[in-house]
Amino acid sequence: MAVRDVLSRFDITEYCVVPVKSEFVIYPHKLENLSFRHETAIVCLFSYYVNSYPADAVLSRYAACPDYHRIVGGVLSDVCEKLRALYPDFGFSYYTDDSPYSEKDLAASGGLVIRGKNDIALSEKYGQLFFIGEIVTNAPIEHEYRTPPSCCESAPCLRACPTGAISERGFERARCLSYISQKGGREFTDADAALFRRARYAWGCDICLNACPKNRALPDTPLWALHDISPYISTDEIGGLSNREYRQKYRGRVFAGRGKAAMMRNLIHLKEKSKWNF
Ligand code: SF4
Ligand code: SF4
Repeated sequence: MAVRDVLSRFDITEYCVVPVKSEFVIYPHKLENLSFRHETAIVCLFSYYVNSYPADAVLSRYAACPDYHRIVGGVLSDVCEKLRALYPDFGFSYYTDDSPYSEKDLAASGGLVIRGKNDIALSEKYGQLFFIGEIVTNAPIEHEYRTPPSCCESAPCLRACPTGAISERGFERARCLSYISQKGGREFTDADAALFRRARYAWGCDICLNACPKNRALPDTPLWALHDISPYISTDEIGGLSNREYRQKYRGRVFAGRGKAAMMRNLIHLKEKSKWNF
């Protein structure tokens, strides 16, 4: 049985197999005490697209997902088990988000994704709505490369962005609402507050994603656990919680780690601007 067959059993069709290079390492401390040499990475994409996602969502799509580390990690763990049976003399382990490597660079090295003009990874089949996970191994697995997708000429993401973070000159992260919303702390700087007033999301920002033609007519994610979305959150819902209770309640969600103060700050800013009735 080939690696492709193992992956397809788990509905993983978007993947590449690439050599692991030192230039991909971003967290060297995570490479201490490895039990085998990471020579090859099987980089996989996991769509989180759900067609029924509400247009008035307060949370961006990825923030509305349940704990994807657990869900994607569970799939990769099962894939590793099958691969160990195929290659019993070699090591296999997996990462999703907690990787020592730049996952986007690993995926891009195999042609699986490119960096879109909005700085979000873009793939052929899943647009920009996917998580990345990878299996690393020292098994002699043949490399597999994809033909990279490309950005569109008309670039509607540029015109859609409410803060001018995307331009022909490139992407300016400091102006991106997704980046600003994810900062820790109780208060924004004046500059961040001025930009955040243009937000319509309490966490993340899907405005350029919604404008991008590559994110239309996508198939629903085959991972049914990712259909269990929670697109809303409110001051009423979290106001009475201690920070500890907040982290516990939203454990595994992408915004939980920043603590309650950051989410309250965002919600209150939106509420004050009367953008939404929180
Ligand atoms: S996520 Fe929002 S703020 Fe950031 S580039 Fe896209 S549209 Fe602009
Ligand atoms: S709208 Fe076009 S230019 Fe912008 S990210 Fe999507 S494909 Fe790329």
